[in-house]
Amino acid sequence: MSPKAPAGKSAGPRAIVASKRGRSPDVGRGTPSPSSWSLGDGQQIPWEYAPAPESREIVQLKSRYGLFIGGKEVAPRGGQWFTTVDPATEEPIAEIARATVKDVDQAVSVARKAFRRDWSTLPGSERAKYLFRIARILQERSREFAVLESLDGGKPIKESRDVDVPLAAAHFWYYAGWADKLEYAFPNLDPRPLGVAAQVIPWNFPLLMLAWKIAPALAAGNTVVLKPASSTPMSALFFADVCRQADLPSGVVNIITGPGEIGLALVKHPDVDKVAFTGSTMVGKEIGLAVAGTNKALTLELGGKAANIIFDDAPIDQAIEGVINGIYFNQGEVCCAGSRLFVQESIVGPFIERLKDRLSTLRVGDPLDKNTDVGAINNAAQLAKIEELVEAGIAEGAEMYQPACELPARGWFFRPTLFTHVAQSSRIAQEEIFGPVLSVLTFRTPAEAVEKANNTAYGLSAGVWTEKGSRILSMVSKLRAGVVWANTFNRFDPTSPFGGYKESGYGREGGLPGLLAYMEGGH
Ligand code: NDP
Repeated sequence: MSPKAPAGKSAGPRAIVASKRGRSPDVGRGTPSPSSWSLGDGQQIPWEYAPAPESREIVQLKSRYGLFIGGKEVAPRGGQWFTTVDPATEEPIAEIARATVKDVDQAVSVARKAFRRDWSTLPGSERAKYLFRIARILQERSREFAVLESLDGGKPIKESRDVDVPLAAAHFWYYAGWADKLEYAFPNLDPRPLGVAAQVIPWNFPLLMLAWKIAPALAAGNTVVLKPASSTPMSALFFADVCRQADLPSGVVNIITGPGEIGLALVKHPDVDKVAFTGSTMVGKEIGLAVAGTNKALTLELGGKAANIIFDDAPIDQAIEGVINGIYFNQGEVCCAGSRLFVQESIVGPFIERLKDRLSTLRVGDPLDKNTDVGAINNAAQLAKIEELVEAGIAEGAEMYQPACELPARGWFFRPTLFTHVAQSSRIAQEEIFGPVLSVLTFRTPAEAVEKANNTAYGLSAGVWTEKGSRILSMVSKLRAGVVWANTFNRFDPTSPFGGYKESGYGREGGLPGLLAYMEGGH
């Protein structure tokens, strides 16, 4: 077969191995099929998970959603709308307002008024009450938000349910606790808010990124205008309803929807005091340029190409799970995904075999099914980008492996993929793929692991797997990454700051540094 056959989408029910030399089903390795169970004596018992779909009825959808400005839903001034789509079915979900620059002006002016009139003058203990209320409402409506997030974003319901929504609520709980203790948190500072925060968020964790940004901003006394990504606006628009339910004073939180140029108009707006962006490095640079020379405070949380480093004394079963969670969580659409796996040379053969076996048990499919491990890719452009980079990996000489699995006939799906024989200079070792694609490299010594792990334009996260505490400490001090996980990966907590070096951006979100970023003198 030709290596040109599209990787991922077209693969049949057998594992696929592809390299420059060609592409063939991987019949020789005896990889268990997800639809059969081996008894160990050569017998295979057919095995299928019964469908376990979460009900869509939990979410009551309207056909259209306007902008949320001044505590009200308003129509866009230009009268234009766009459609948000379910990536698992390619069916439309709802029509969404396309904001104009005039809508941006109005949202910022309303946020300014709310800042002066209400929010900045409220005692911290009163602000905290609203934040506690929002946290509680998010918990009460958690099932609804989990379904919505999976419907609009393509992520497996078990992740929305167990990670995105609880963590979003946890951020509101955490920052609510600080709102009346700012002078204790920052004893040498006169803790004052900045003013109006412009926040632009991506599509990979829509509700969680909203919480990362809105919770500290409000706790510190700022008001907010937030723009969600165009492919995942739903949870932000439902959050508007949470704000109403919590009786948040009007104009404290405003949500505008529309394309990237509206995001740019928002961050450039002269009456904005703080800009917080999460997304691609390219857009982050554009925003950096737009904000340069102004008095605006800026935090940028951009891309990553994290190294997940496995030493030969690592707890192997845990490490395999950590690698799987590191790269296939949220389809790999995670800025801190462990997309470069470094395995110590002495264990690479058996480690990769076990990894392939584990890969073959991942269930790819309907995001709303509670058994699904890998859902849909968020949008068609992202799927095309993943396919292009996977083909580039094969063309550059790496060997691709994809486990046996059937993909749904409709929707934007991609098989979990791993590459071996990857060169450091290869695009799949250097560029952020933002998909379920792992590049495996090797090392012999800790020094070589550090050298190779740091050989990237990014510096967001890393993982180290070893039994030796001293080695963990030594590696952590040498890895140029904002977050380093030891014997775990992709763990998040509102108390823990998160952010990067180099092309991964600057500033920190989460913890006290994340609060400081919304106060005078904090940047
Ligand atoms: P973008 O950086 O384009 O989008 C992120 C957010 O910024 C969205 O709300 C987007 O709006 C908005 N935006 C787009 N252009 C501008 C602009 N010029 N000024 C201000 N805001 C803007 O990411 P993409 O969705 O295009 O994804 C592209 C790549 O970025 C991915 O393949 C991945 O590599 C990386 N990425 C990284 C993320 C991270 O968490 N670090 C998250 C998402 C993507 P709209 O959606 O309307 O275009």
